Amino acid sequence: MSQIYEDSEDIKQIRAAVQALCAKYPGEYWRKKDEARAYPTEFVNALTESGFLATLIPEEYGGSGLGLTAAAAVLEEIQRAGCNGSACHAQMYIMGTILRHGSDKQKEQWLPKIASGELRLQAFGVSEPTNGTDTLSLRTRAERQGDHYVVNGQKIWTSRAEHSDLMLLLARTQKAEEVKKRTEGISVFVVDMKEALGNGLTIQPIRTMINHSTTQVFFEDMKVPAENLIGEEGKGFRYILDGMNAERVLIGAECIGDARWFIDKATAYANERQVFGRPIGQNQGVQFPIARAYAQTEAADLMVRKAAALFEEGKVIGAEANMAKLLASEASWAAAEACLQTHGGFGFAEEYDVERKFRETRLYQVAPISTNLILSFIGEHVLGMPKSY
Ligand SMILES: Cc1cc2nc3c(=O)[nH]c(=O)nc-3n(C[C@H](O)[C@H](O)[C@H](O)COP(=O)(O)OP(=O)(O)OC[C@H]3O[C@@H](n4cnc5c(N)ncnc54)[C@H](O)[C@@H]3O)c2cc1C
Repeated sequence: MSQIYEDSEDIKQIRAAVQALCAKYPGEYWRKKDEARAYPTEFVNALTESGFLATLIPEEYGGSGLGLTAAAAVLEEIQRAGCNGSACHAQMYIMGTILRHGSDKQKEQWLPKIASGELRLQAFGVSEPTNGTDTLSLRTRAERQGDHYVVNGQKIWTSRAEHSDLMLLLARTQKAEEVKKRTEGISVFVVDMKEALGNGLTIQPIRTMINHSTTQVFFEDMKVPAENLIGEEGKGFRYILDGMNAERVLIGAECIGDARWFIDKATAYANERQVFGRPIGQNQGVQFPIARAYAQTEAADLMVRKAAALFEEGKVIGAEANMAKLLASEASWAAAEACLQTHGGFGFAEEYDVERKFRETRLYQVAPISTNLILSFIGEHVLGMPKSY
């Protein structure tokens, strides 16, 4: 593994370029979007035009051909600037399933357009209302009928569905009782959402405590051309696992960015705010939680960097990706809590952006995978203890 704890010159330049772009989208911009629960179209367009969302797409398909470390740096800087990358982060990594498991024809069909931004592939249909984290119990069915599949079922928390042209969909092509292992019989499809909308696909927005453009989607006899099946029928679960590990590392990087935003903000306020004739940061009760969050963040950052570096070497990173996401989401939450507490009453005032970021960073202990499920993964698969569920 190459040296991971210091940025290369290339990564430093990427960070500087992202910082320059994000400076045009200050807190006021995000506050207005948050209040209206509106999609940050201008920000997403600017990021698309800059090419940052195509960081992971190989050059032959029009992307930058960079690795996970570069993509992580992009997302970290977005969050560190107080912006919200969740509006478009999935455009970066969902395409990885096509890249790694799609046919040449599929790659040529979709990747150049995803790289240019002509097509958005940023909806990922995995979660369902009834099965929760137990993905293998998913009920959405895709049945082959001639040259297409007919899809029936429902997904929930399908974020950005209204702002995406394509969706990566996970559906059962064989019933769970018909397969030897429950991981079999699940397939992955690329759904042309614009085509399907009104033709078997319905999207319903879900209003949440954050501005996340999340939805529930319903499939009623929705037709998907058989040529949109990725890889082999029935092997889809395996295909999405490596993509999920990449996602966890990138979400970890977003958490590091959030944590650094909170720590900068808390430190500045602690130095500036005078109460009882001295800066509040002079009190250890104020100083220590910020210092602790800083230490947690630095440690988590190392795990994010290690997981990204191992992924780039083609290693299996289940343990590292999960630990990176766990530690980083806990660091960002500790930093959020310290920042809000440091600001006292002003932490609750919208104009400080602390309450907005506080709400936003809380998500990461639940999605894309909850803390308990990561702990059970480590307990069982890393430490060899009995399966707990
Ligand atoms: C804003 C938002 C955006 C999202 N975007 C997407 C998206 O784009 N695409 C998508 O497919 N999904 C998305 N999700 C779904 C997200 O991945 C799930 O919410 C998450 O994985 C948790 O699943 P669940 O909500 O079904 O919780 P459940 O599985 O119902 O779990 C509820 C709680 O019980 C705990 N729990 C469950 N089982 C166990 C166990 N065996 N041991 C210990 N604890 C357990 C969990 O840790 C959790 O805290 C999103 C969710 C949100 C809130």
